[in-house]
Amino acid sequence: MTSSPSFELGPELEAFRDEVRAFAESRFAAKAAHWDEREEFPEENRRTLAGAGWLGLLIPQQYGGRGAPLIQSVLFVEEMARVCFNTTTICQIALHGPARAIAVLGTDEQKRRFLPGCAGGEHLFAISITEPGAGSATTDIETTARDDGDAFVVDGHKCYTTLGAQCTHTLVFARAPESRGARGIGALIVDARSPGVAIGEPDPKMGGRGAPECDVRFDRVRVPKENLLVPCDAKSSAGFRTLMAAFGPERVGNAAICVGLAQAAHERALAFVKERRQFGRPIEEFQGIQWKIADMATQIHAARLMVYRAATREKDGFPDPRDTTIAKLYANEMAQRVTNEALQIHGHRGYTRLYPLERLYRDARGYAVGGGTTEILRNTLAAIELGRSFDQRGG
Ligand SMILES: Cc1cc2nc3c(=O)[nH]c(=O)nc-3n(C[C@H](O)[C@H](O)[C@H](O)COP(=O)(O)OP(=O)(O)OC[C@H]3O[C@@H](n4cnc5c(N)ncnc54)[C@H](O)[C@@H]3O)c2cc1C
Repeated sequence: MTSSPSFELGPELEAFRDEVRAFAESRFAAKAAHWDEREEFPEENRRTLAGAGWLGLLIPQQYGGRGAPLIQSVLFVEEMARVCFNTTTICQIALHGPARAIAVLGTDEQKRRFLPGCAGGEHLFAISITEPGAGSATTDIETTARDDGDAFVVDGHKCYTTLGAQCTHTLVFARAPESRGARGIGALIVDARSPGVAIGEPDPKMGGRGAPECDVRFDRVRVPKENLLVPCDAKSSAGFRTLMAAFGPERVGNAAICVGLAQAAHERALAFVKERRQFGRPIEEFQGIQWKIADMATQIHAARLMVYRAATREKDGFPDPRDTTIAKLYANEMAQRVTNEALQIHGHRGYTRLYPLERLYRDARGYAVGGGTTEILRNTLAAIELGRSFDQRGG
C-alpha cells in the first residue's frame, strides 16, 4: 500500500502564510487603492520588500536569497494579491520572472553577477517577449541578436513590457538573423541603460494601474556575450522550448495571484451579506445570495488546489506544463467570475470606487491575457490531451 496523498499544506507552510498575510496587511493594505487611483508605481513598497528579504525568496542562499521552494513564493504572491495587486506585480516579476530563469539556466558567473542584486532590490528585471506583430504567435518575433565579436547586437521593438519604465534590466527574447519560426530563438539579459535602448510611455490600462506596461525599442544595442542566457541557434528550436518551460513559474504565480484576488473579493462579500439588509433582513438570508457565496468558495478552492499542485511538482527546476496550464486557465477565468459576483453582491456600492470590488475585478481581468491568453492555454492543453500539436497557421 502506498502512502496516501496529502492535500494539506502542513503546519510550516500555514505558519508561513500567516506570516506573509500579517506582513502584507500591516505594510501594504493602507495604500492599495492609492497606487491604482494615482496610477503610481509603488517604489516604496519595492524597497520594503527588498529590505525584508522577500524579493530573494526563491534565489539560492549562496546568491543572497532564501532558497525557498516554489510553493512558498506561490503562497507569497497569493497573500500579497489579497492585499495589494500593484505591489504583487513587483513580487511576481522578481520571484517568478527572469531571476528564476537565471537561477536555473544561467552560468555560475551570471548567477554571481545578477542574483544578489535581484534579491537585494538593486536590480529590477523585466521581460520583453511580445512585439507589435508577435503576441500569441511568439515564434513570429522579429527582434534579432547578431553576433559581432565580443557582443551581440540587438535590434527590435518590444511592447507590453511590464515595468519596462522602472526596470534596470530586461530579459529580451530575440532570434538569430535569417532564422524563422521557433528555430533561432534565444534570450539575452539587456541593461536598460545601454545606448540604443528607448523606453516608451506607459500604456494607459484598465487594471494594475500602478504597474504599467510599455514599449521598449532596441536600436543596435550592444549586449556583452556573457549576458546570453539562452543561445539563439538558427538550426534549433531547443532554445525556444527551454524558454517556454522557464515561463512556467510565471504562469503558476499568475494563477496564484488570481486566487488571492478572488479570495479578497470573497471575504468582502462574506462580510457585506451579513451587514446589508433588504426586505427587513440581512441579504445572507436569501438563497440566491447563499448560492453565489457557495459557488465562489467552490471555485476558489478548486483553483487553489490546482495552483498548489502545479507549484509542488517541479521537473528540472520548472513546474509541470500540464499542471501549470490547467491552473492558469482555470484560475484566470475563476477570478473574473468571483470578483464579478462579489461586485454584484455589493449592488451599487460594488460599482463605485469607494469599495475595492471594481478594482479587484479590473486587476483580475488582465491576467487572462498576460502570460498567455486563455485561448492559447486551451490550445496548449488540447495539444497535450490529444497527443499532437495543431498548426495554428493553417498550413
Ligand atoms: C497585464 C499584462 C502584462 C503583460 N506583461 C508582459 C510582459 O511583461 N512582457 C511581454 O513580453 N508581454 C507582456 N504582455 C503581453 C502578453 O503576453 C500578450 O498580450 C499576449 O501574449 C497576447 O498577445 P496580444 O495582446 O498581441 O494578442 P493577440 O495575440 O493579437 O490575440 C488577440 C486575440 O486572439 C486570440 N488568438 C490569437 N491566436 C489564437 C489562436 N491560435 N487560437 C485561438 N485564439 C487566438 C487571443 O487569445 C486573443 O484573444 C502582458 C499583457 C498583459 C495583459
